[in-house]
Amino acid sequence: MNPESLPVTVLKGVGPRLQARLARLQIHTVQDILFHLPHRYQDRTRVAPIGGLRPGEEAVISGVIELSDVVYRGRRSLIVRISDGSGHLSLRFFHFSAAQQKQLQRGRRLRCYGVARPGRDGMEMIHPEYEYLLEDEPAVEDRLTPVYPLTEGVHQLTLRKLARQALERYAGEIPEWLPESVREEHGLCPIGEALNGVHRPPPGEDVGRLLEGKHPLQARLAFEELLATQLSLERLRAEKQKQEAPVFKMDGGVYRSLVQGLPFALTGAQQRVVAEIREDLMQRHPMQRLVQGDVGSGKTVVAAIAAAFAMEAGYQVAVMAPTELLAEQHLKNFRDWFQPLGRQVLGLSGKLGTRARRQTLELLARHELDLVVGTHALFQEEVAFARLGLLVVDEQHRFGVHQRLALREKGTQGGVYPHQLIMTATPIPRTLAQTVYADLNVSVIDELPPGRRPVQTVAIPATRRAEVVQRVHAACREGRQAYWVCPLIEESEALQLQTAVDTEAALRQALPDLRIGLAHGRMKAREKDRIMAEFKAGALDLLVATTVIEVGVDVPRASLMIIENAERLGLSQLHQLRGRVGRGSERSSCLLMYQPPLSPYARRRLAAMRETSDGFEIARRDLELRGPGEMLGTRQTGLPRFRMADLIRDQHLIPAVQAAARRILQQHPDHIEPIVRRWLGRAEEYGNV
Ligand code: ADP
Ligand code: MG
Repeated sequence: MNPESLPVTVLKGVGPRLQARLARLQIHTVQDILFHLPHRYQDRTRVAPIGGLRPGEEAVISGVIELSDVVYRGRRSLIVRISDGSGHLSLRFFHFSAAQQKQLQRGRRLRCYGVARPGRDGMEMIHPEYEYLLEDEPAVEDRLTPVYPLTEGVHQLTLRKLARQALERYAGEIPEWLPESVREEHGLCPIGEALNGVHRPPPGEDVGRLLEGKHPLQARLAFEELLATQLSLERLRAEKQKQEAPVFKMDGGVYRSLVQGLPFALTGAQQRVVAEIREDLMQRHPMQRLVQGDVGSGKTVVAAIAAAFAMEAGYQVAVMAPTELLAEQHLKNFRDWFQPLGRQVLGLSGKLGTRARRQTLELLARHELDLVVGTHALFQEEVAFARLGLLVVDEQHRFGVHQRLALREKGTQGGVYPHQLIMTATPIPRTLAQTVYADLNVSVIDELPPGRRPVQTVAIPATRRAEVVQRVHAACREGRQAYWVCPLIEESEALQLQTAVDTEAALRQALPDLRIGLAHGRMKAREKDRIMAEFKAGALDLLVATTVIEVGVDVPRASLMIIENAERLGLSQLHQLRGRVGRGSERSSCLLMYQPPLSPYARRRLAAMRETSDGFEIARRDLELRGPGEMLGTRQTGLPRFRMADLIRDQHLIPAVQAAARRILQQHPDHIEPIVRRWLGRAEEYGNV
């Protein structure tokens, strides 16, 4: 029987309780178990010499106990020192029983599995798995051990057993959905073989390649998974093609007045993107366009021009920003641009009073309001538009696909959808964009406004803090403005804020003649706006802030950026933060303060920041150093999460996957649904609008 139609409860050991817990992992059927793939393996097939362990390495070691002792360094712990002739290692236990302590005695032989970390006296493992070895007993297993993604109440061992059982009973019955021709062309093995091999790698398989995820068995599955994503997005695109949207009749009136009023000329790239948008707006189907542009490339004015087109055509516009701060900023910009043209622009934010909100909603419903700016409050509210024609979503990676689809639904009238323009400052390489945004058309603003000078970037150890403070002082005395960013590095939010508060207090003391302000996420919105407005108006010299200012904030006069604990931040985030300066014609600098010693990755990140200011290059290196899930904020975007595929590692598969998708769409349309369901399951439902 097809394992897709068998509930997990047909497996031994799965009762209602476990069934409910498995459901949290989106596991409902036997097929789901088979496609719940190990996200990594533990290599217990060889014993690592202790002397060769690197920090962070996960390994099996075996050795003899030399010493076992309870110590009180900060916290009571049991330290067991073992040696294998190549070196020593300490096992550290914070929780241990008297019996455990007694058994872990000098002279006994152990096998341990854990992560090696640098400790006080050489390497250590904290709470490793361990067992006693008998004389001559081999310390290794003959095959790799799969490690599955877990949820509360479902143990690793349970999943291992269930996978084994499902494979033994049903592996032969999993339907093959890849056409023979596709499999032959790309040398892909049958699905059953691939699943078997990935859940239970046969002894002697190429361990290194399996650990890296580059084994052909894994590539077989990654291929099908990428195919599933591609098919689902193409299906989404095809559905949108069937949807109706208003055809804008534009006479260029509002557009011309807007552009004439601007204090600058559009760049060539801006003009090109504007032309692409204009073309879309004349179609009978909703525009779904993503504009990628580096920080400071001038996306806002492009959005404003799109809004002008909508107004010309007699439609309303909604602009959605990811934070209150940005919504405020956009509101101000759009007002400055449109009110002189006799257009009504208002904001709809969480902090609006009941009366003001009701009034705004009424104006919207009566079409006495042309443009509304807001945060996600826009779609949480009972917002009804009289005639929504265009939806602009800024900094798209902060929003989930669900959220933007929900807002689009709001604007639907009699089956007619609004056009949609999405802007993001997180560029991704072209091949990836084709996969990740296969349902969108992509425009790129690949040119910065003229006169921008690259931000001079240096990395400075925190030990030279006093120098940095002096530099801020000198810059502000010259009339420049500066940001001092304290990223959130503590686990607890209260502590995070404390860091910013303390920093501000210390800087006030050190620099009594400067006007210093503080902005963080937990402040009352009104207070934060006041501070930001003061900074923008030049009434503050120095703004101490958490990363609330990361996205979109535009204060052209600010030209110095200090980032503390820069080694803890990802490249994209650093790039966004740095993008807050270098927006005017002034020469700008960015000082990346770090706590030495730097890890090799952190060193590479800081080096990348010094070497390039090109957002695409930064994105490429960020992907390399962090993996795509993190950069795209998979959770936030609602993009499909991959089980097997890794967009960077498997990039080379993408052209073949796209070709296969085309073939299946044409020749085997009945395979689309089962492939998509198998890999994306319910995650795919967002597509069904
Ligand atoms: P981002 O793409 O990061 O959202 P913004 O839209 O905030 O960038 O624009 C950054 C700054 O550049 C703003 O102050 C904006 O007024 C200015 N700007 C935009 N386009 C141009 C242009 N063509 N020439 C000069 N300045 C521009
Ligand atoms: Mg912006």
